[in-house]
This record gives sequence, structure tokens and C-alpha cells, in this order.
Amino acid sequence: MKLVSLLLVLSAASAASAPAAETLRVGEVAAAHGQQASGYIVVPDGVDPGTRIPVSVFNGAKPGPVLALIAGTHGSEYTSIVALQRVRARLDPARLTGAVILVHMANPTTFYGRRIYFSPDGKNLNRVYPGQADGTISQRIAHAITTQVIAPATHVVDMHCGDGNESLRPYSYWQVTGDSTIDAAGKRLALAFGLDHVVIDRERPVDPNRTLYTSNTAVRRGKPAITVESGGMGLTDEPSVLAQEAGALSVMADLGMLDAPSVKVDKPLFVDRSQVVTSPATGIWRPAVEKMQSVATGTLLGRVSDPFGNVLHEIRAPFAGEVLYVVGTPPVSEGEPLAFVGHVTDVEPK
Ligand SMILES: [Zn+2]
Repeated sequence: MKLVSLLLVLSAASAASAPAAETLRVGEVAAAHGQQASGYIVVPDGVDPGTRIPVSVFNGAKPGPVLALIAGTHGSEYTSIVALQRVRARLDPARLTGAVILVHMANPTTFYGRRIYFSPDGKNLNRVYPGQADGTISQRIAHAITTQVIAPATHVVDMHCGDGNESLRPYSYWQVTGDSTIDAAGKRLALAFGLDHVVIDRERPVDPNRTLYTSNTAVRRGKPAITVESGGMGLTDEPSVLAQEAGALSVMADLGMLDAPSVKVDKPLFVDRSQVVTSPATGIWRPAVEKMQSVATGTLLGRVSDPFGNVLHEIRAPFAGEVLYVVGTPPVSEGEPLAFVGHVTDVEPK
């Protein structure tokens, strides 16, 4: 969409506005208390073509938390996109306390292009936050989500799975910052979502102007947020989709927003040490392990060969743990992930 038409849309939206306190606006979408609406956040054309991000807003009859559920950040991660269609069908604003913002597909450009990891600008949307209004498409999407979705939210769940090449077991990331209030709220979100493996993440950037990740953008603005992973390999299998759907509704129940079945984890398994094992070379990857498999230090994870079949590297587990994901398709470029290994404990890390 051209900038002129965007401005027309924006002025039309503000001309029709109800009193600010009554209406929740996200992009072109506006919903008064007790109402729902669906439409788009328009990301205008810039140095490259823009896009339209589909969103639904459910504004409850009673005020309360504003939960943002963000699906489809990566192009071939389909389970969250399917799950949010199902969540949308189950929500009723008349019976909702607070508000829910569903970002049905954060990155349409990579989805319709059937891309993994990277948008056409060569950037990973989940590494460019908080984004830039005059940047390339990934940066403009990140800026739109930061300013139009994360800004009005009180809680954020960024919903992922293994990308089109990643065979992944379900888990949540719990970001530990050292701020006891937000850390406790983040842990509560992770347990409420219902995935029993919780990866402790202490490595996210502190600077709110260089947050890189969607969930970290919320956390560094004082809003509890988690990243969840269920599914992978370009599939939409029922268990993976159901875990996302049930987790989203369970979080709403835990926040007191609606009556829904809880899938809260009673006995979480914490991943207190984890490492993405990356490829030392560009080549052809053949995994030797499967997701959820236990490995010892030095267990063969797989081999990278050249196009002729000569083995260039044997890739081994850096420490004992579980395979949280492993790349399941042959192409790999130097520096890209091959596997994610985590050490699992039932003792909550300090
Ligand atoms: Zn992802």
C-alpha cells in the first residue's frame, strides 16, 4: 500500500473514533468494550514492498490484562497460525475480562514466500526488534508490532515452532532478567502455557532500543513475556497445534480473563544449560539423532558432507542432555543451527 492511501486509512480511522478509553486500536482494527474486530496492520511500502499483518482484537466487557498472542514470526512455522484461527473462534468478548490481541501472522512476506529463517531482505524478524520505521521489511514489521501490539499489551506470548527444517520437541523459553517481579510473572506465564520443558534464558540484550527478539522487546518494556515452541518441519499435526491452542487459552484463564481449561504445568523440567550447535561449514547435513533423544557428551549428532559425499565434519554433543531440536533436512550453511541441546533438571535453577 502506498503511503498516501495509508494516511487516508489512518485519518478515516481517527475520524470514526469512539472515546479513547472505550476502544482498543491495533492498526486499522478498533474494538470497543464488549466487541471484537479483525483486520490488518498496514506496513507501508518503503525501500522494499510492504505487507498487511492480519490481526483480531477482542475487547472484553470488563477491563483487565491485555494479552498479545503473536503467531507466524517465521515463514514456515505454521502451528501457531492454525492455532490462533481456532482461538479466535472460541473467544467471546462479552465473556472476556481484559483484551486479547491476536496477531495471526506476523510475517506474511515470508509465509507466502515459503521461506525459512529469513525474509526477502535477508533478515530474521526475530533478530531485528524493536525495528525501524524506515528500514527494510523485517525492520518495518518489527516496528509495527512494537508500537501497535506490544505497546498496548500488558502480557505477550510469542508463538513459534521449529521452522520448516527443524524437528523440535515442545518447550517454552523463560527469560530470567534479575528483576524478581517480571521474572516471577514470566515463569507463571510459561507454566500456564503448559509445555513441561522450560528453557532458562539469561542471555537476552538489556538495552530497550536493541532488544532483537519479540518477547525481549516486551520484557525490556516491563511486560511479562514468553516464547513458546510446539511443532516443526512445516507440519500442522494435531498435537502440536492443540498444544498452542490450549496453551493460549490456559494463559487467559491464569490471568483471570476467562473460564477455560487449565493446562498449567505442575512439575516443570528446567533446561538450565543449553546450546545451539552450529555448522562449521556449508554442506549437506545428515542427522544421527532425533528430537527428544538423550545424548552424552560427545554423542554423534550428525555429519556435514560436501556435495560428493565426503564427510567434512562430525558434529558431537557439547555436553550431556536432550535434543530439543535437530535440523531434519539436508541444506546447511556455515554458522547455521544444526541442533539445540539442553541439560534438563527438575530442580529449579537459582
Ligand atoms: Zn521461530
